[in-house]
Amino acid sequence: MAVETYFKYLMKPLDLGFTSLKNRTIMGSMHTGLEESLFSLNKLASFYQERAKAGVALIITGGISPVFNGRLTLFSSQLSSYLQVLKHRKVTQAVHQYDCKICLQILHAGRYAFHPFAVAPSAIKAPISPFKPRALSNRQIRQLIKAFAKTAMLAKKAGYDGVEIMGSEGYLINQFICRNTNQRDDEWGGSFENRMRLSLEIIREIRRVVGYSFIVIYRLSMLDLHKDGSSWEEIQQHALAIEKAGATMINTGIGWHEVRIPTIAAIVPEAAFTWVTKNLKQTIDIPLITSNRINSPEIAESCLQNGDADMVSMARPFLADSEFVKKAKNNQSHLINKCIACNQGCLDRVFKQKRATCLVNPRAAYEVEFPLSRAGRQKTIIIAGLGVAGLSCAYYAALRGHRVIAYDAGNFGGQFNLASEIPGKESYHETIRYFEAQLSLLKVEVHRNHKLGYEDLRDTFADAIVVATGVRPRKPDIPGMDHFSVMDYETAIKNKTSIRQKVAIIGAGGIGFDVAEMLLTQNERNNNSDWYKKWGIDKTFKHRGGVQDIEQAAENHNTIYLLQRKDEKPGKHLATTTGWIRRLTLRRGGVKMMSGVSYEKIDDYGLHIVVKGEKVTLAVDHVIVCAGQLPENTLYDQLRDIGHPVHLIGGAKKASELDAETAIRDGMELAYSF
Ligand code: NAP
Ligand code: SF4
Repeated sequence: MAVETYFKYLMKPLDLGFTSLKNRTIMGSMHTGLEESLFSLNKLASFYQERAKAGVALIITGGISPVFNGRLTLFSSQLSSYLQVLKHRKVTQAVHQYDCKICLQILHAGRYAFHPFAVAPSAIKAPISPFKPRALSNRQIRQLIKAFAKTAMLAKKAGYDGVEIMGSEGYLINQFICRNTNQRDDEWGGSFENRMRLSLEIIREIRRVVGYSFIVIYRLSMLDLHKDGSSWEEIQQHALAIEKAGATMINTGIGWHEVRIPTIAAIVPEAAFTWVTKNLKQTIDIPLITSNRINSPEIAESCLQNGDADMVSMARPFLADSEFVKKAKNNQSHLINKCIACNQGCLDRVFKQKRATCLVNPRAAYEVEFPLSRAGRQKTIIIAGLGVAGLSCAYYAALRGHRVIAYDAGNFGGQFNLASEIPGKESYHETIRYFEAQLSLLKVEVHRNHKLGYEDLRDTFADAIVVATGVRPRKPDIPGMDHFSVMDYETAIKNKTSIRQKVAIIGAGGIGFDVAEMLLTQNERNNNSDWYKKWGIDKTFKHRGGVQDIEQAAENHNTIYLLQRKDEKPGKHLATTTGWIRRLTLRRGGVKMMSGVSYEKIDDYGLHIVVKGEKVTLAVDHVIVCAGQLPENTLYDQLRDIGHPVHLIGGAKKASELDAETAIRDGMELAYSF
């Protein structure tokens, strides 16, 4: 018997006149890295198919260029010839088996193109690309409009239900709209009417070519987040013109890629920009889609109930859990694997030209390699250690039908428990909660507060023993390490409220940055309005681009030193999409970052260092050691020596440069080998 869903607004169909969508969920555009090669099309089809099967109403593909010079990189995908139609059919057919619609996103990178053939409204280089673009001529702009329409027509032939025109995030069309990137004095530049002309002509031409019964979504930049961006009046004027030109729906874009204001990272509050869509909703009649940091059915439902939009677009949450909609519909949101907005498995990998996946769901975009199938023979697997590597292994092994008996010396979660104490990483708890719920559902025998030792396992007949016992903090060999002012990062994080004002942090890796941020922000009020002020976001719709001068942060009474031995910029190796936010946060907070440091000793006067040949004493209350980790793998060595079928995963296998993404993937890959 079908259950009545809690999420009535989210599950309500949407009538578009010529067609309808079965509910209000959209899987937003997300590049996976599977789009480019003919050989990966079945993988792309499987990726979308799994999400379509689980009930999402509409999928929007990753961005595909209408022309060669609009590609993001030289090898990015393009749809401009009939020969390519067949390959796209594989994708649309896979999705259409499940009453799910799919739109192709048409994206022209403009000056964000990472190749020497880049074009733009004016020949002005983007700060995030080394290539200076050529300015498009009037004739080339006219050809480009036709090219957009041709791509839409080919998309229709390939079975897509519609297209999304990428008009935000600072790509070509957005570059025409804003005056800093468009300095033309012809019919495409100057007045706002001229600057928005390209977007409207593209919509009209697409509509002319594809006819009435085809979805045309326009992704509108509603907050450019730079001072030359559109004013709110211009955005309203533009939205009305888009509606009149024949768009079916308007989707939300927030911020340009070159702007240094976070819009989707974990420190951005949940549903941080739905107030923008809510304001625009009063202006237009066609359905409006909201987006950014919406990662649970509860938040999505409240946006719709609140009248913020007609539909909710989520991209990363569908990587984290392909069954997001199915679970929401069946009132099982507690079983959803929540996106923790880390960007590690998805965007950071895409920036490195790797296939996207998900830190908390390593099957994402790997559905073909790791199918949801049961193992041929049930085995008994013992797992020692339930950090994220052990949890992942236990989950996937149980899912494949094995009997799993799992032990942890304490409780679940390992290093994720520490991570969730860091500001902006609170949702890391969700991953532990997810695995805990799944292990219970799959009837894994779990033993907490039981540290497995050699004696426990010496005589076992288990088919496999998995040692996932994690890491311990490294204790560097510096005189005075036993001084009472010294503590490791675990102790510091667990006792953060008792840490005094002057602190030196040894080690500027991911955890050193985490600890500095924790100390910096622990006095800040946990208040969303502070967050907007801190990043200069104007919520009053008065300022162009939705930005104003950043409010000076309150005087910081802490003195925090972040130190490393390497003579390079601290934080150089942090992730691409979030590293800049972390460096900026510490710089603005007055954290003193020092490189090329050597440590002399620690005593009652503080930490003695030598930097650039000069002896310096940092008079601090605490020295917090964030100098990496060492593996805890004694049990593995003991069991291997007596010939047991033992496996090592996660930090216990490789502590240096281990990250959660590798640990969770390690656990899954081992489980699939049983
Ligand atoms: P890490 O990134 O390897 O950094 C360790 C730091 O300690 C380095 O700055 C290193 O710099 C210093 N160090 C190493 N040996 C030392 C010694 N003997 N004496 C003094 N200093 C020493 O390790 P982590 O910060 O513990 O992070 C562990 C893993 O978790 C990493 O893979 C990291 O990427 C990941 N992580 C990621 C995030 C994230 O936000 N994505 C957050 C936290 C952790 P010098 O050698 O130059 O001094
Ligand atoms: Fe979300 Fe991180 Fe997964 Fe990306 S990798 S989808 S940000 S949890």
